[in-house]
Amino acid sequence: MKRACVIGAGFGGLALAIRLQSSGIDTTVVEARDKPGGRAYYWEREGFIFDAGPTVVTDPACLHELWQLSGRDMADDIELMPVMPFYRLNWPDGVNFDYSNDEGALKREIARISTEDLAGYDEFERYSEGVYKEGYVRLGDVPFLDFVSMVKAAPALVKYQAWRSVYSIVSSFVKSEKLREALSFHTLLVGGNPMKTSAIYALIHKLEKDGGVWWAKGGTNRLIAAMVRHFERLGGKVRLGEPVLHIHTIGDRASEVETTSGWRERFDAVASNADIVHTYRDLLTETPRGPAMARKLTRQRFSPSLFVVHFGIEGTWPGIPHHTILFGPRYEGLLEDIYTHGVLPQDFSIYLHHPTVTDPSVAPPGKSTFYALIPVAHQGKLPIDWDQVGPVLEKRVLDEVGRRLIPDIHDRIVTKFHYAPRDFALDLNAYHGSAFSLEPILTQSAYFRGHNRDDKIKNLYLVGAGTHPGAGIPGVVGSAKATARLMVEDLR
Ligand SMILES: Cc1cc2nc3c(=O)[nH]c(=O)nc-3n(C[C@H](O)[C@H](O)[C@H](O)COP(=O)(O)OP(=O)(O)OC[C@H]3O[C@@H](n4cnc5c(N)ncnc54)[C@H](O)[C@@H]3O)c2cc1C
Repeated sequence: MKRACVIGAGFGGLALAIRLQSSGIDTTVVEARDKPGGRAYYWEREGFIFDAGPTVVTDPACLHELWQLSGRDMADDIELMPVMPFYRLNWPDGVNFDYSNDEGALKREIARISTEDLAGYDEFERYSEGVYKEGYVRLGDVPFLDFVSMVKAAPALVKYQAWRSVYSIVSSFVKSEKLREALSFHTLLVGGNPMKTSAIYALIHKLEKDGGVWWAKGGTNRLIAAMVRHFERLGGKVRLGEPVLHIHTIGDRASEVETTSGWRERFDAVASNADIVHTYRDLLTETPRGPAMARKLTRQRFSPSLFVVHFGIEGTWPGIPHHTILFGPRYEGLLEDIYTHGVLPQDFSIYLHHPTVTDPSVAPPGKSTFYALIPVAHQGKLPIDWDQVGPVLEKRVLDEVGRRLIPDIHDRIVTKFHYAPRDFALDLNAYHGSAFSLEPILTQSAYFRGHNRDDKIKNLYLVGAGTHPGAGIPGVVGSAKATARLMVEDLR
């Protein structure tokens, strides 16, 4: 039986491990932290469950597939609950917009904002459908290993004007600034600036429309636990609390994996789900390939980081939907400050996560769990002392949530803490503390993103947000499919 090691237990690493084990490859996952999940880590405090990262589960079919590979049913391990509306968008002038895949309801929401944009929305929908079929269904899990593969994708890129941004494409269909924001903000969920991210990402609209938006009962952490359970049932092994120190190589092959505890084992193939810069710069120091790739990668653009305030409060809030975007007074200017200027603006847009409205099990009875997230520049652009800034920013974010939704928020707080760019860097080895790895711009996509198999070290593979197609649960689970296909073929 061939043996593989997957370094890192993020969504991408676990999806890959399940695929390998399902194909009869003896697979060991080695994870640095005490719990699996990576960005989808979690904390339990005073009876509140706080998921660290992903909360919006889209394209559940890509997850179901991981169970179907071995003839099992995901529903035996985890319940997915539908979320409706998908998001409530709220602007400072008090206007709300409920975004969902209920066609009639969505059209009524659009008409409330601008009836003249209804026809443009229909055209946008057709565009989104086309780009979804090309960019996600056809190319979402294809490993772009050589330039020829990119050339093959070129006609689709030209047809859908992939060089334009999502915001620019959306603006060609609808005139209302609010609708432009409503139809373009999704790229932020995968680390992309709507003003710069390729229009290909407009596919997210169709992805959500067809597949819905879901919540894993008990939290995203339960979905991770379900993946681990499924993997172990298949015979896979998970080693937690084992930071990998070295991927040893002999010639052009990865030979052994060594952790800080001294554990060291030989494998036929090694895949890294850890941060792409960390993998090359820190784990492959024995070979010239490591530092050379690290130099190349550190010249690329990385997605911003995030500042996340977790809080558990007294009371229940049936009027606050599961996902709310509280837009600030600026859109493009705010994005410029975060992505380009690297400053901490006075204003912000907040994504407010309120799981207890769907699933009261994540808080004690009569209490509610929330997180309020704002994108902030990564540490390479904004090297500030988060020990000092964190508490001040935390208060400002809570004040804004209080001003717009929960007036006596400070009096209701039972427990609270925040997670800053520095934490992403320290806990996850994330380069510059980026929350989503390489920025999803056209020149860093597909062939121009991290390759699923290293070009020089023949049995070294990559999986996760730094590889094609990129961040987000469907993205990294798609990258696992591409990487697994290569590994299974190579190990045959
Ligand atoms: C706050 C937040 C909210 C998000 N919201 C959403 C959302 O709603 N929906 C969505 O689809 N996506 C969302 N995303 C994006 C999504 O969570 C990520 O893109 C995805 O989870 C990344 O998965 P990954 O496979 O790249 O691995 P990661 O989650 O990055 O995991 C990598 C793992 O490697 C481990 N590791 C690192 N170095 C080592 C080492 N030396 N040895 C061993 N292990 C190591 C890390 O500890 C980690 O567990 C969000 C992200 C964040 C941060």
